[in-house]
Amino acid sequence: MGLIVQKFGGTSVKSAESRKAVLGHILKAKEQGHDVVVVVSAMGRRGDPYATDTLIDLLREQGGKINPKTQDLIMSCGEIISACVMATYIEAQGVKAEAMTGFQAGILTTEDFGNADIIKVYPEQIMEKLKEGKVVVVAGFQGRTEKNDITTLGRGGSDTTAVVLGGYLKADLVEIYTDVPGIAVTDPRLVPEAQFIPRLSYEETITLAENGAKVIHPRAVKAAREFDLKLRIKSTFDESEGTLVGPERSDLIVSGISLTRDFTAARYEREKTFSDDYVKKLQGLGIDKVIYEDDAGQKLVLINEEDKDAAGSLANELNAEVTFLESMSKVTVVYKDTVCSKAVDEKIASSLSQQDIPVLAKKVQTNFSSYIVKNDLAEKCVKVIYKAYFN
Ligand code: ADP
Ligand code: MG
Repeated sequence: MGLIVQKFGGTSVKSAESRKAVLGHILKAKEQGHDVVVVVSAMGRRGDPYATDTLIDLLREQGGKINPKTQDLIMSCGEIISACVMATYIEAQGVKAEAMTGFQAGILTTEDFGNADIIKVYPEQIMEKLKEGKVVVVAGFQGRTEKNDITTLGRGGSDTTAVVLGGYLKADLVEIYTDVPGIAVTDPRLVPEAQFIPRLSYEETITLAENGAKVIHPRAVKAAREFDLKLRIKSTFDESEGTLVGPERSDLIVSGISLTRDFTAARYEREKTFSDDYVKKLQGLGIDKVIYEDDAGQKLVLINEEDKDAAGSLANELNAEVTFLESMSKVTVVYKDTVCSKAVDEKIASSLSQQDIPVLAKKVQTNFSSYIVKNDLAEKCVKVIYKAYFN
């Protein structure tokens, strides 16, 4: 018997029916004698009345510039509403519960509105309520600054809330409940037959999450590794075991294929080679800090559309020609660091060329490789690589 933190995402708390499934998991943990801290996201997606994006739209409709502090304040409301609804529903079943904002839960953050980092947690108030036998339901995705302004933690922030609370409360396990039964080799929405993985290491999961597997936020996994906390990612809607993320790696040679879309690639062409200093500058420009190479040996970095001017100035500074490739995607393949990355790359390159998918640039590393392809071929690219390893 110990303490479990259970996090439920937007689709898990959005309707009365889904909240019933949530309740089942909470009651099961209580019956097993655990103290339970629940972390909830806002209910539903854009268009649903209390979803985060709906709340932001309310401010946008007013015209004019939105104060980031005000935007965080309104964004935090979605999770607060969700926590109140969930706590009241739990109490209606005769189980004591207490709803808390991130502020009440003692979560202190930096002042980076919209993307704040948790500095520290003062867990006393949660502990007091647990001692009273209550299920504590915390609004995810938020905290407060030293000055008591309300902040939000950025995309996937509730995952981080759950893990960091688990760390400070010395939880035995943090469970991340979502709408799919764990982490699959690739997004099951793209490849419906994708295998779910019983066990993955922190490192494998971080690489996948940083490269687009949005099932878990990378910051949350990094926090879990720091606190030496096990994470289980599972479905709210079935009883399967899900994926355990911990120090041990998976048994798979290729453990993941993830996809991020809609980049601009800045291609730098230069006759002389780039000095280390210049390479660093290029790296700094790239959103993922990675430099890719194409078949001609020229260097590419991935940028957002709005960073084109900065990319142009850097080209002048480097005495290089820059051209922009629009609407690009990155497909990342994660594999064991004991396999020969060159062999993996050769297999992938030949599978893609057989299916007429041009790779515009790539970066091959010891435990993962990334391929830059056009947006409209990206999904096909994921499917082809999946087939090459899992059929
Ligand atoms: P929540 O609201 O519960 O946090 P998210 O939408 O953030 O849920 O994450 C769950 C989604 O992540 C799934 O519906 C799935 O489409 C997507 N996803 C992307 N890559 C993967 C993967 N490798 N394994 C499982 N799910 C993935
Ligand atoms: Mg999520």
